[in-house]
Amino acid sequence: MTVDLDWENLGFEYSELPFRYISYYKDGQWDQGQLTQDATLHISESSPALHYGQQAFEGLKAYRTKDGTVQLFRPDKNAERLQKTANRLLMPQVPTDKFVEACKTVVKANKDYVPPYGTGATLYLRPLLIGVGEVIGVQPAKEYIFTVFAMPVGNYFKGGLAPTNFVVSRDYDRAAPYGTGAAKVGGNYAASLLPGGQAHDNGFSDVIYLDPATHTKIEEVGSANFFGITKDGEFVTPLSPSILPSITKYSLLQLAEERLGLKPVEGDVPIDELNRFAEAGACGTAAVISPIGGIQDGDNFHIFYSETEVGPVTRQLYDLLTGIQFGDVEAPEGWIVKVD
Ligand SMILES: *Cc1c(COP(=O)(O)O)cnc(C)c1O
Repeated sequence: MTVDLDWENLGFEYSELPFRYISYYKDGQWDQGQLTQDATLHISESSPALHYGQQAFEGLKAYRTKDGTVQLFRPDKNAERLQKTANRLLMPQVPTDKFVEACKTVVKANKDYVPPYGTGATLYLRPLLIGVGEVIGVQPAKEYIFTVFAMPVGNYFKGGLAPTNFVVSRDYDRAAPYGTGAAKVGGNYAASLLPGGQAHDNGFSDVIYLDPATHTKIEEVGSANFFGITKDGEFVTPLSPSILPSITKYSLLQLAEERLGLKPVEGDVPIDELNRFAEAGACGTAAVISPIGGIQDGDNFHIFYSETEVGPVTRQLYDLLTGIQFGDVEAPEGWIVKVD
């Protein structure tokens, strides 16, 4: 029995569900892991996650399909990305099987909170890997916690897919050229809070960061990747060692080619060549696609398709990907993992 919540009006907010998964790493190995009803972590005050940012996270969703079953979208890709992040921060990897099993276990334990099909709402999963234990010098932790918790979240676009405006940050970068931009770590987000807050205060939905080495090319949005659709049918997205590789982005890149016949291009996106694009968007798990109406860069405001209307290719891509995630459109092999 699904619980009774106002599914249509859910936002993107934390809520405490009955169960989460937790596993401890000690003496060089992971324990079995288990479900717990305790929503509070108990860790040493000296935990390296708190002092030196030795922590990483992931984000993915569970979707209720028309026939009532529940499924995950490419959780193995989140597992692989967390492994790459772990390597960069000298943390132990969580094996893919353990990661996917933990996600399934949490969804099953909280299945009454997986939103009904047709509401656009989903169960958001937050895997977290942190370095804990008694360390005060700058060195990797000897103990780690891997936890996965969940909460229902609403459809990002309540009134339907709609474009918003973004602003280029000229004063701040989110990551260094060979820093941790490609790792999903909290430090990148801490660095983006100030410019992100300023952007919101000025009426923009988020910041567009430029490549930190030359500040001439689009890098990504604070928590989403950038793509543009050229006037001659290319799906273009930036390539850089300091971009966080979005699973949504690589899924769209593949669908653009295989289902819409667009030419997939990963390469430079010079900020002064936005005229190439008929449409543009930001993409990530939370919103899937946020169509970009316009980009403000200093005194220059560039409008793509329209400030109020969503472009046709952006809409097609959004419908295709969400159709696959909710089980209405046939998925490429291996993209869907059934929970029950
Ligand atoms: C998580 C994240 C994204 C989106 O990745 P998805 O796998 O599509 O959810 C994009 N940029 C940053 C900085 C991120 O942390």
